[in-house]
Amino acid sequence: MRIAILSRNPGLYSTKRLIEAVEQRGHEAVVLDTLHCYMNSSSAKPTVHYKGEEISPVDAVIPRIGASITFYGCAVLRQFEMMGVYPLNESVAITRARDKLRSTQLLSRKGVGIPITAFANKPDDIKDMIKMVGDAPVVIKLLEGTQGIGVVLAENEKAAESVIQAFMGLKSNILVQEFIKEAGGSDIRCLVIGDKVVAAMKRQGPEGEFRSNLHRGGTAELVKLTPQERKTAVSAAKIMGLNACGVDILRATRGPVVMEVNSSPGLQGIETATGKDVAGMMIEFIEKNAKPHRTRTKGKG
Ligand code: ADP
Ligand code: MG
Repeated sequence: MRIAILSRNPGLYSTKRLIEAVEQRGHEAVVLDTLHCYMNSSSAKPTVHYKGEEISPVDAVIPRIGASITFYGCAVLRQFEMMGVYPLNESVAITRARDKLRSTQLLSRKGVGIPITAFANKPDDIKDMIKMVGDAPVVIKLLEGTQGIGVVLAENEKAAESVIQAFMGLKSNILVQEFIKEAGGSDIRCLVIGDKVVAAMKRQGPEGEFRSNLHRGGTAELVKLTPQERKTAVSAAKIMGLNACGVDILRATRGPVVMEVNSSPGLQGIETATGKDVAGMMIEFIEKNAKPHRTRTKGKG
C-alpha cells in the first residue's frame, strides 16, 4: 500500500514512528506537510497537489492534524476522502472531537461519565454558573488551550469569579468544570484503536500540580485498567467516530470520567511508558480496513 501521512513536521517522534511502521510492514510512506497541500474542489475529479505536482494515488491517509490547523487540515483530509482514499480518522470525527463543547454534549448524551461541565460565553450570573458545577473548587478552561496551558484550578468562589471575569474580558470561550480532587493530579491516557484499548498509561503531575500533562512536568507509567475504564474509553472513541485516538480519563469516586478525546494522540509518551508498538498497530488497522470509498460519512459531513 501507499500510505500518506499528513504532518507538519516529519522530524517529530510520532511521524517518524509512523513512517517506520509503514515501511516495516512493507508499504510505502508519503509524508505531506498539511499546510502545503492545495486542491481544487470545483473539478469533477478531486485531486490534491503538492509542490507543483498532483499527488499520485494513495490507498490510505493518516491525519496528524494539530489543534492550530484543524480547519485547513480537515479540508485537506476531506479532499482525500472525496477521492475515495481511506482515512485512519475521518475529517468529520476529527472536527467533532476538536470541539470541546460538542464532544462534551455528545458524550453526556450517550451516558459516558464526564466531569460536571458548564460553558458560557457571557454569563450574567457567574455565581450561578459556579453553583451549576457544584461550587468551588472548580477547574476553568479556555476552549482553545492545549498542553495544560489555559487550565486553572480556582480553589474558592472569589478566585473562580475573578478568573472567569478575566477570561471573559479576553473574549474567550470558557468551560467551568467540577474539580475531580480524588484523581490526585493524575489522569489515564487510553490509546484506542478500533474497538480496543491497545495501550494505557497513568500520567502524574509533579508535587503540588493538579495538571498531569507531560509538557507541564508530569511523568508517565504503565497502568492496569479496570473493565469499566476500558469500556468507557472504547465508548468515547466510538461516539466520536474515531478509529484511533487517545481518551483521557480521570479516576473519580463515582467511576471513570472522560476529560477529552484526542484525534492525533502523541506516540512518544505512550510507546515509552508501555513498550508497545502503537504505530505498528495503527498500520495494522489500516491494512485490515482500508478499502477504497470506505468513508462512511462521504458526502454528508
Ligand atoms: P489540555 O487540553 O490543555 O491538556 P485538559 O483538559 O486535558 O487540558 O487538562 C489538563 C490537565 O488538568 C489534565 O490532564 C488533568 O490532569 C487536569 N484536569 C483537567 N480537568 C480536571 C478536572 N475537572 N478535575 C481534575 N483535574 C483536571
Ligand atoms: Mg489534556
